[in-house]
Amino acid sequence: MAHDYPRIITPPPGPKAQAIVERDLRYTSTCYLKEYPLVIARGEGAMVEDVDGNRYLDMMAGIAVSSTGYNHPVVVKAIQEQAGRFLHICGSDFYFEGMAALAERLARIAPGKSPKKVFLTNSGTEAVEGAIKLARYATGRPGLLAFKGSFHGRTTGALAITSSKARQRAGMGPFFPGVHHVPFGNCYRCEYDKHFPACGLYCVEQIERDLFGRHVDPKEIAAVFVEPIQGEGGYVVPPPGWLPAIRELCDRHGILLVADEVQSGVGRTGKMWACDHFGVEPDILLTAKGLGSGMPIGAFVAKESVTTWKKGAHGSTFGGNPVCVASALATLDLVEGGLMENARLMGDRLIAGVRRLAEKHQVIGDVRGLGLMIGLEFVTDRATREPNPHVVEALVLGAFQRGLLLLGAGPSALRLAPPLVVDAEDVDAGLGIIDEVLSAA
Ligand code: PLP
Repeated sequence: MAHDYPRIITPPPGPKAQAIVERDLRYTSTCYLKEYPLVIARGEGAMVEDVDGNRYLDMMAGIAVSSTGYNHPVVVKAIQEQAGRFLHICGSDFYFEGMAALAERLARIAPGKSPKKVFLTNSGTEAVEGAIKLARYATGRPGLLAFKGSFHGRTTGALAITSSKARQRAGMGPFFPGVHHVPFGNCYRCEYDKHFPACGLYCVEQIERDLFGRHVDPKEIAAVFVEPIQGEGGYVVPPPGWLPAIRELCDRHGILLVADEVQSGVGRTGKMWACDHFGVEPDILLTAKGLGSGMPIGAFVAKESVTTWKKGAHGSTFGGNPVCVASALATLDLVEGGLMENARLMGDRLIAGVRRLAEKHQVIGDVRGLGLMIGLEFVTDRATREPNPHVVEALVLGAFQRGLLLLGAGPSALRLAPPLVVDAEDVDAGLGIIDEVLSAA
């Protein structure tokens, strides 16, 4: 059946959208970014309709969240049934079956064979905070290592290990001490390739040599926090041996490896976790975003051997809310029941299409991705690789005006992260609009 979107009937923002934008701007806090004036009225699958009746094809999923689309009937039914039974019981203090079931399921599907224990949270950031606490508790060490370009959240602990954009940290320090940032395995923007043109994972070697040799005793480091595919930093996929080398580095020094899969997890990459592509078992896995199809839920899944803390050491009033848990269980059913495979198939189609676009448009400097987590990096010149943020801004706005929802990432990249329900028609339509906007520029 042909899709009835994208369909722009009033150039956005239309009059109803404009009124809501003005009201919002008057009363909401000044920190909200608001990428473009999309005012959603409803959504279905990979279609978003605004308050003026414009219909958009969604390729950003509310920042990689709406994994099953905007109102998947299986998820909606699970939410409605649970809401009819009870809305809340504090999972930190009492029991309900859904919490046990979700913990059991996450422990089972987390990468690797070691037995796991699960803590449920409200968000990705809360999972990061919990993991920082658990890593420090379990190791008795204070220090943390994270990567340049990483994004781990907005609370003060998560922000201390974030190094994505300076404006996210500006004016909010001092942050807690003992955090070290080192280069990510970003081959397109390698900091060492002038001296070592063949990638011998010199960036990992440098952690050992430079950071541990000169700056900090590795025995003071509790954990390495890593996004197996950098999200907010630009949808950067490291080379195949990089994450295993980081795992080895951790093992050598008794450091815990925390995989932040808040953006890359739950089937988005065509496997349940991005770690699965690299054959790496982290000590702690973080998830959120797509886990609840839009309902606020996250988790940290730690090896049993790491989960040494005592009763009352950590907790959360709303973490593991029963309605969100029901949504997560239904989401996992759908992801395991076909959407993960669809992400792989549609991801292959999308990245092949993007590579064809890169042959035509010189501003596309790099294309990378796994499944439906695809990044395009824009440059002013392919030889110098000078970042070109302006073309990303123009593309995102031009696409919006034509009925395609996109989102930038990092200094000069575009992220393609559609709901996992997209079909071939959606993929081809999205590629067509990107081509059209780049051709018009
Ligand atoms: N970690 C990663 C990798 C993320 O991409 C994000 C959000 O974008 C977070 C943590 C923070 O998650 P939340 O916004 O749910 O608190």
